Formats: sequence, C-alpha cells, structure tokens
Amino acid sequence: MTERIYAAGLLLHGPADRAALADGAVRVAGATITDVGPRDEVIARAAPGTEVTHFPDGTLLPGLIDAHVHLAFDDHSDDPVGALRASGAPALALNAAGAARRLLDGGVTTVRDLGDRDGVGVALRDSVRDGVLPGPRILAAGAPVTVRGGHCWFLGGEATGADGVREVVRANLAAGADLIKVMATGGTLTPGGPAPAEPQFTVAELTVAVREAHAAGARVAAHVHGVAGVEVALAAGVDTLEHCSFISADGPAAGPEHRPDVIDRIAEAGTFVCPTYSGSLDRAAASIGIDRLRPWLDVVLRQHERGVRLIAGTDAGIPGAGFDEYAVGLSWFVRAGLPAPTVVEMATSRAAEALGLADVTGTLAPGRDADLLVVTGDPRQDVAVLGAPGLVVARGREHLPGSARTAPASGIRSTV
Ligand SMILES: [Zn+2]
Repeated sequence: MTERIYAAGLLLHGPADRAALADGAVRVAGATITDVGPRDEVIARAAPGTEVTHFPDGTLLPGLIDAHVHLAFDDHSDDPVGALRASGAPALALNAAGAARRLLDGGVTTVRDLGDRDGVGVALRDSVRDGVLPGPRILAAGAPVTVRGGHCWFLGGEATGADGVREVVRANLAAGADLIKVMATGGTLTPGGPAPAEPQFTVAELTVAVREAHAAGARVAAHVHGVAGVEVALAAGVDTLEHCSFISADGPAAGPEHRPDVIDRIAEAGTFVCPTYSGSLDRAAASIGIDRLRPWLDVVLRQHERGVRLIAGTDAGIPGAGFDEYAVGLSWFVRAGLPAPTVVEMATSRAAEALGLADVTGTLAPGRDADLLVVTGDPRQDVAVLGAPGLVVARGREHLPGSARTAPASGIRSTV
C-alpha cells in the first residue's frame, strides 16, 4: 500500500488541551493514519522511498466537521423550500453532489446531513465512500420526523402519535439512515406550521424515537428553538440539540429567553449543542446591526461558560447559509466570546465525539482515518485561516481546493 508523509511547521493533532507540535508529521497508508509525531521521527520510521510533502509555513490539523447541513437544499436559491419541492430526486442528488464538493473545498471532511428527501444523503454517502464522487464523509438522517403539517413536513417524515413516530424512525433506519433527526419544535422554514417556540411532540413520543434509534445503534439529533422544546428533548434523552436558540413565545424581536436553569440542565445531561453558525450571521449583522444580534450571541457564550458541550455546524443549504462559509461561522463563535482554541476543538475532536466518530476522525492519531488539511497560519490565533485550506485529504484521498487549483500544492515534495 502506498504510504505518504505530510509534514508542517505546526501540527495540531487535537484535542485542544494537548494539541500542538512544532515541526510535526503524519504518515498515511491508504485511507488510514499510521504514524504521528515530530517530523524527524516520523521520517526515520518510514520505509525508504516514502513520499514526503512538507509545508514549512503551514499548519496541519484534522479535517473539519460540519455537524449540521442539508445537502439536498440549493443555497443559491432565494426559496430553497420551493426549489426543493419542485425538484425530482435526480436534481436533488446532483445538487447534493455539488454541495459536497464545495464543503470539501473548504476543508470539511465530515458532515452530518440533518434532513433531505428521497434518500439522497444515503446514496451520496455511499458514492463518496466508494470514491465515485469527491466529498466529505456523510452521516445521513434521511427525512426528519415531524408532525402532520409540521416543520419540514415536505421532506416526507410526517408522523402521528407514538406509533407513527416509531414507524418513521424504523423506515429511515431501514433505508440506511445513520441517525435520526426529530423536529422537536416548529421552525422558520415552514409557513403555517407550529412556531419555533412551540413543541411538536410529547416526551413519550420523542422517547419512542430515542429508544428505537438507540436500539439500532443510531443517535438522535433534535431541532429545538424554544425552552419548552428543549425540556421535552432533554427528557426524552436525545444526543444533540440543534439551534437551541432560546427563542421566546413572543418571537425573535423579543430576544432570547434568559433561562440559566435550563442551560445548567443541558450541561448536566452532557447533551451536545450545535448552535448552527454560518455566513448568515454576516448578513444578519448587516441588516439588523450587531447590537440586536448580541443577545443571541450571548446565549451561546453563556452555554459555553456553564459547561455545555458546543459543536460547530452551519445549517448550510437553508436561506443565507452557504456551503462554502463554514469558517465564517467559526469566526462568529469567536465574536460571541469563545476562545479560538475551543472553537477549533468544536470543529474537530468535539464534533467527532458528538457524532460517535471519536475513534474515526477529528484527531490525528494512528488508526484514525486520514482526514486532514493544511492551512497557512495558526487557527488557534485566527480561526478565519481555516477558510482557505491549501490541501485537503479525505480518507486518504488528496483534494486540491478550488482556490488552490491553479497554484501548486504549496508543499515541498521529496522522498525519504
Ligand atoms: Zn437544519
């Protein structure tokens, strides 16, 4: 099997608290990391003739993880829901393939697709895994479980009562879903559906979803906005809370609800929270101003300060959230007040843990998949440098991002 070594002036192998190595290297055999350490030592342990690509001014780190995307949605459309509803499965699949390629260009080597139609995510997951198409590793949820006419009902996951929930969960798992997505509250994408502050399911109904999923070894991601929905999802034992915006019954204009007690319960439960930060925050800041955005940023900062395990994800695909702005979302966590090294961890090792992939990706260690990227500069000082990777390696496959396609991979090639 061909072995290669990637070396860089700085190696961040993660997680953040025991993370950095000056002049480090990673040896890769096929799709797997076989050695990590100081460059000289990794080279000394390699077989003669092993190719070395050295980035003296670069930082080598684990591939990024976007824990919340919708590959089937067209982020260029002003009306992605209308576009999706008007599209057949082949068009959705092609859109998803393009989205996957753009995510990979941005250094994202793993995504969790939290809602699509017609099994698009599952099919693309397999194509990427088999090397047919370029893209990140995909964990696909299939059609989110929702109530009749509820949030994103048009994706096909409508369920009535506990029996209905069980049926949709089983159908998704039988169709190859890696995890289950439940719409625990209403949302903004669905006109006429329940409001974002309103729960859609009872604790008993969501508990059925969690039990069915966990019995099959699958995790459960819950879309939640309002506090009542957070409480239902926590009581049911879901694995991740998506958005978790603390929106009040009076709507967004009233600002988020101040509920430190609920934040403490999320922290105690150890449930991961994915606040879905993306380039859409740039647009929001431009339209309503940073002062009105500040309370929403503070809700996230407060969760971090109280020990909630936050992870990075963008909701890419929905209006305003593009597939190539992952690093912009990371910058907003820093603007909210989180330390940059924590944000790097939220994008790598901690997200891998939340997705059940801690032994697979998110850190650089022997036995892990070879998911890595090279950037210029230290993301622990400035997370924005993650937005322009010079080289991305996904499960051992080298990918030159669009921005670097006309330039050489800036590394210096040699052999041991
Ligand atoms: Zn979403």
